[in-house]
Amino acid sequence: MTTIFHEFTLYHKDDKDDKDRYSLLCIECKKETPHSTVCSYNEEYQRISDMNTSDWSRKNQIIQCQNCKSVSFRTITTDSEIDYDIPYPKEVIKYYPDLITTPDPNQDLPYGIQEDYQEAQAIFFRSPRGAAALLRLAIQKLCKHLGEKGKNINDDIAALVKKGHLAQNQQAFDIIRIVGNNAVHPGELDLKNDPKTVNTLFQLTNLIAESMITHPKKVKQVNALYDKIIPFTEKERITNRDTNKTKHTNKKNVA
Ligand SMILES: [Zn+2]
Repeated sequence: MTTIFHEFTLYHKDDKDDKDRYSLLCIECKKETPHSTVCSYNEEYQRISDMNTSDWSRKNQIIQCQNCKSVSFRTITTDSEIDYDIPYPKEVIKYYPDLITTPDPNQDLPYGIQEDYQEAQAIFFRSPRGAAALLRLAIQKLCKHLGEKGKNINDDIAALVKKGHLAQNQQAFDIIRIVGNNAVHPGELDLKNDPKTVNTLFQLTNLIAESMITHPKKVKQVNALYDKIIPFTEKERITNRDTNKTKHTNKKNVA
Protein backbone atom coordinates (compact mmCIF):
# COMPACT_ATOMS: atom_id res chain seq x y z
CA MET A 1 0.00 0.00 0.00
CA THR A 2 1.33 3.44 -0.88
CA THR A 3 0.14 6.66 0.71
CA ILE A 4 0.91 9.82 -1.26
CA PHE A 5 0.83 13.21 0.35
CA HIS A 6 1.17 16.60 -1.37
CA GLU A 7 1.37 20.02 0.20
CA PHE A 8 2.08 23.52 -1.13
CA THR A 9 3.28 26.28 1.18
CA LEU A 10 3.79 29.92 0.29
CA TYR A 11 5.96 31.72 2.82
CA HIS A 12 5.21 35.34 3.56
CA LYS A 13 8.25 37.61 3.34
CA ASP A 14 7.52 39.02 6.80
CA ASP A 15 6.99 35.63 8.36
CA LYS A 16 9.02 35.94 11.55
CA ASP A 17 8.61 32.27 12.41
CA ASP A 18 9.98 31.07 9.12
CA LYS A 19 12.01 27.99 10.05
CA ASP A 20 13.37 27.90 6.50
CA ARG A 21 15.87 30.69 6.96
CA TYR A 22 19.42 29.52 6.63
CA SER A 23 22.91 30.50 5.69
CA LEU A 24 23.88 29.40 2.19
CA LEU A 25 26.49 30.04 -0.48
CA CYS A 26 24.82 32.49 -2.89
CA ILE A 27 25.23 32.06 -6.67
CA GLU A 28 25.39 35.85 -7.15
CA CYS A 29 27.10 37.11 -3.99
CA LYS A 30 29.55 34.17 -4.19
CA LYS A 31 29.71 34.02 -0.42
CA GLU A 32 27.62 32.66 2.43
CA THR A 33 24.52 34.82 2.93
CA PRO A 34 21.14 34.48 4.69
CA HIS A 35 18.53 32.78 2.48
CA SER A 36 14.85 32.18 2.93
CA THR A 37 12.27 29.93 1.32
CA VAL A 38 9.74 31.73 -0.90
CA CYS A 39 7.54 28.68 -1.44
CA SER A 40 7.74 24.94 -1.09
CA TYR A 41 5.91 22.14 -2.86
CA ASN A 42 6.29 19.06 -0.68
CA GLU A 43 5.68 15.47 -1.69
CA GLU A 44 6.06 12.36 0.40
CA TYR A 45 4.96 8.78 0.40
CA GLN A 46 5.19 5.69 2.50
CA ARG A 47 5.38 2.33 0.81
CA ILE A 48 4.17 -0.57 2.97
CA SER A 49 4.73 -4.14 1.86
CA ASP A 50 4.69 -7.50 3.64
CA MET A 51 8.43 -7.31 4.09
CA ASN A 52 9.11 -3.70 5.03
CA THR A 53 8.09 -0.04 5.04
CA SER A 54 9.90 2.71 3.19
CA ASP A 55 9.57 6.47 3.28
CA TRP A 56 10.41 9.00 0.60
CA SER A 57 9.98 12.77 0.64
CA ARG A 58 10.94 15.73 -1.52
CA LYS A 59 10.62 19.46 -0.99
CA ASN A 60 10.74 21.52 -4.21
CA GLN A 61 11.59 25.04 -3.17
CA ILE A 62 12.07 28.51 -4.61
CA ILE A 63 14.65 30.19 -2.42
CA GLN A 64 15.92 33.76 -2.19
CA CYS A 65 19.18 35.34 -1.04
CA GLN A 66 18.40 38.02 1.52
CA ASN A 67 21.51 39.94 0.59
CA CYS A 68 21.20 40.39 -3.21
CA LYS A 69 17.58 39.12 -3.57
CA SER A 70 18.50 36.68 -6.36
CA VAL A 71 16.14 33.73 -6.68
CA SER A 72 17.10 30.10 -7.27
CA PHE A 73 15.66 26.62 -6.79
CA ARG A 74 16.49 23.60 -4.70
CA THR A 75 15.15 20.14 -3.93
CA ILE A 76 15.59 18.37 -0.60
CA THR A 77 15.09 14.62 -0.82
CA THR A 78 15.06 11.89 1.81
CA ASP A 79 14.77 8.21 0.97
CA SER A 80 14.85 5.44 3.54
CA GLU A 81 15.80 2.96 0.80
CA ILE A 82 19.31 4.33 0.49
CA ASP A 83 22.24 4.94 2.83
CA TYR A 84 21.43 2.38 5.49
CA ASP A 85 24.83 2.90 7.04
CA ILE A 86 24.04 6.44 8.14
CA PRO A 87 21.29 7.73 10.42
CA TYR A 88 18.04 8.23 8.55
CA PRO A 89 16.72 10.56 7.33
CA LYS A 90 19.65 11.96 5.36
CA GLU A 91 18.77 14.96 3.26
CA VAL A 92 20.16 15.17 -0.27
CA ILE A 93 20.02 18.81 -1.38
CA LYS A 94 20.39 19.83 -5.02
CA TYR A 95 20.56 23.41 -6.26
CA TYR A 96 19.54 24.79 -9.65
CA PRO A 97 21.56 26.35 -11.09
CA ASP A 98 24.56 24.73 -9.48
CA LEU A 99 26.41 26.92 -7.07
CA ILE A 100 29.78 28.05 -8.44
CA THR A 101 31.18 29.97 -5.54
CA THR A 102 34.85 29.29 -5.94
CA PRO A 103 37.30 32.08 -6.80
CA ASP A 104 38.65 32.21 -10.37
CA PRO A 105 42.18 30.85 -10.82
CA ASN A 106 45.17 33.12 -10.51
CA GLN A 107 45.98 34.09 -14.11
CA ASP A 108 49.69 33.58 -13.53
CA LEU A 109 49.23 29.84 -12.99
CA PRO A 110 50.53 27.87 -16.01
CA TYR A 111 47.78 27.03 -18.50
CA GLY A 112 47.62 23.27 -17.75
CA ILE A 113 47.23 23.96 -14.03
CA GLN A 114 44.49 26.51 -14.68
CA GLU A 115 42.67 23.81 -16.67
CA ASP A 116 42.73 21.43 -13.68
CA TYR A 117 41.61 24.27 -11.42
CA GLN A 118 38.68 25.16 -13.70
CA GLU A 119 37.66 21.51 -13.97
CA ALA A 120 37.65 21.39 -10.16
CA GLN A 121 35.43 24.51 -10.13
CA ALA A 122 33.02 22.92 -12.60
CA ILE A 123 32.46 19.80 -10.49
CA PHE A 124 32.85 21.38 -7.04
CA PHE A 125 29.19 21.51 -6.16
CA ARG A 126 28.30 17.99 -7.30
CA SER A 127 31.55 16.40 -6.17
CA PRO A 128 33.66 18.19 -3.54
CA ARG A 129 35.80 15.03 -3.35
CA GLY A 130 36.50 15.13 -7.07
CA ALA A 131 37.38 18.83 -6.84
CA ALA A 132 39.80 18.17 -3.95
CA ALA A 133 41.53 15.42 -5.96
CA LEU A 134 41.92 17.74 -8.98
CA LEU A 135 43.37 20.55 -6.85
CA ARG A 136 45.87 18.10 -5.40
CA LEU A 137 46.85 17.24 -8.97
CA ALA A 138 47.16 20.96 -9.76
CA ILE A 139 49.54 21.43 -6.83
CA GLN A 140 51.56 18.40 -7.90
CA LYS A 141 51.97 19.99 -11.35
CA LEU A 142 52.90 23.28 -9.69
CA CYS A 143 55.74 21.49 -7.86
CA LYS A 144 57.03 20.37 -11.26
CA HIS A 145 56.67 23.91 -12.59
CA LEU A 146 58.78 25.07 -9.63
CA GLY A 147 61.58 22.70 -10.66
CA GLU A 148 60.75 19.44 -8.87
CA LYS A 149 60.17 15.96 -10.35
CA GLY A 150 56.37 16.10 -10.20
CA LYS A 151 56.05 12.37 -9.44
CA ASN A 152 55.66 12.22 -5.67
CA ILE A 153 54.04 15.34 -4.24
CA ASN A 154 55.26 14.63 -0.70
CA ASP A 155 58.90 14.32 -1.86
CA ASP A 156 58.53 17.45 -3.99
CA ILE A 157 57.20 19.51 -1.06
CA ALA A 158 60.06 18.22 1.14
CA ALA A 159 62.59 19.21 -1.56
CA LEU A 160 61.08 22.70 -1.90
CA VAL A 161 61.12 23.15 1.89
CA LYS A 162 64.76 22.06 2.00
CA LYS A 163 65.68 24.64 -0.66
CA GLY A 164 63.84 27.30 1.34
CA HIS A 165 61.46 27.94 -1.55
CA LEU A 166 58.17 27.42 0.26
CA ALA A 167 58.59 29.85 3.16
CA GLN A 168 55.14 30.41 4.65
CA ASN A 169 53.41 28.32 1.95
CA GLN A 170 54.41 24.90 3.26
CA GLN A 171 51.24 24.45 5.30
CA ALA A 172 49.02 25.44 2.38
CA PHE A 173 50.77 22.84 0.19
CA ASP A 174 50.32 20.14 2.84
CA ILE A 175 46.65 20.98 3.46
CA ILE A 176 45.88 20.53 -0.25
CA ARG A 177 48.00 17.37 -0.42
CA ILE A 178 46.38 15.70 2.61
CA VAL A 179 42.78 16.74 1.86
CA GLY A 180 43.30 15.63 -1.77
CA ASN A 181 44.64 12.27 -0.56
CA ASN A 182 41.53 11.82 1.56
CA ALA A 183 39.45 12.37 -1.57
CA VAL A 184 40.92 9.34 -3.35
CA HIS A 185 41.83 7.03 -0.46
CA PRO A 186 39.81 6.07 2.60
CA GLY A 187 40.71 8.71 5.16
CA GLU A 188 39.56 10.50 8.25
CA LEU A 189 37.99 13.45 6.44
CA ASP A 190 34.43 13.19 5.13
CA LEU A 191 34.67 15.52 2.15
CA LYS A 192 31.31 14.51 0.69
CA ASN A 193 29.65 16.45 3.48
CA ASP A 194 32.27 19.14 3.84
CA PRO A 195 32.25 21.41 0.77
CA LYS A 196 33.48 24.34 2.90
CA THR A 197 36.86 22.67 3.46
CA VAL A 198 37.19 21.95 -0.25
CA ASN A 199 36.20 25.55 -1.04
CA THR A 200 39.14 26.65 1.11
CA LEU A 201 41.50 24.60 -1.09
CA PHE A 202 40.71 26.87 -4.05
CA GLN A 203 41.68 29.90 -1.99
CA LEU A 204 44.88 28.21 -0.79
CA THR A 205 45.83 27.32 -4.38
CA ASN A 206 45.48 30.97 -5.37
CA LEU A 207 47.35 32.07 -2.25
CA ILE A 208 50.27 29.84 -3.24
CA ALA A 209 50.15 31.13 -6.83
CA GLU A 210 50.07 34.75 -5.65
CA SER A 211 53.01 34.25 -3.32
CA MET A 212 55.18 31.99 -5.49
CA ILE A 213 54.45 33.22 -9.02
CA THR A 214 52.67 36.59 -9.09
CA HIS A 215 54.62 38.34 -6.35
CA PRO A 216 58.10 37.35 -7.66
CA LYS A 217 56.96 38.39 -11.17
CA LYS A 218 55.94 41.83 -9.87
CA VAL A 219 59.19 42.22 -7.96
CA LYS A 220 61.06 41.43 -11.19
CA GLN A 221 59.05 44.12 -13.01
CA VAL A 222 59.83 46.68 -10.30
CA ASN A 223 63.53 45.80 -10.49
CA ALA A 224 63.51 46.22 -14.27
CA LEU A 225 61.76 49.59 -13.93
CA TYR A 226 64.29 50.67 -11.30
CA ASP A 227 67.17 49.73 -13.58
CA LYS A 228 65.58 51.58 -16.48
CA ILE A 229 64.50 54.91 -14.99
CA ILE A 230 66.71 55.63 -11.97
CA PRO A 231 69.88 57.56 -12.98
CA PHE A 232 73.24 56.01 -12.16
CA THR A 233 74.15 58.78 -9.67
CA GLU A 234 70.90 58.25 -7.77
CA LYS A 235 71.54 54.51 -7.63
CA GLU A 236 74.98 55.22 -6.14
CA ARG A 237 73.46 57.54 -3.51
CA ILE A 238 70.91 54.87 -2.62
CA THR A 239 73.60 52.20 -2.35
CA ASN A 240 75.68 54.48 -0.08
CA ARG A 241 72.63 55.34 2.03
CA ASP A 242 71.79 51.67 2.58
CA THR A 243 75.41 50.65 3.15
CA ASN A 244 75.84 53.44 5.76
CA LYS A 245 72.56 52.47 7.32
CA THR A 246 73.74 48.87 7.57
CA LYS A 247 77.02 49.95 9.18
CA HIS A 248 75.13 52.21 11.59
CA THR A 249 72.76 49.41 12.51
CA ASN A 250 75.66 47.01 13.02
CA LYS A 251 77.39 49.51 15.34
CA LYS A 252 74.22 49.94 17.27
CA ASN A 253 73.85 46.20 17.60
CA VAL A 254 77.44 45.86 18.82
CA ALA A 255 76.87 48.63 21.34
ZN1 LIG B 1 23.12 36.82 -2.94
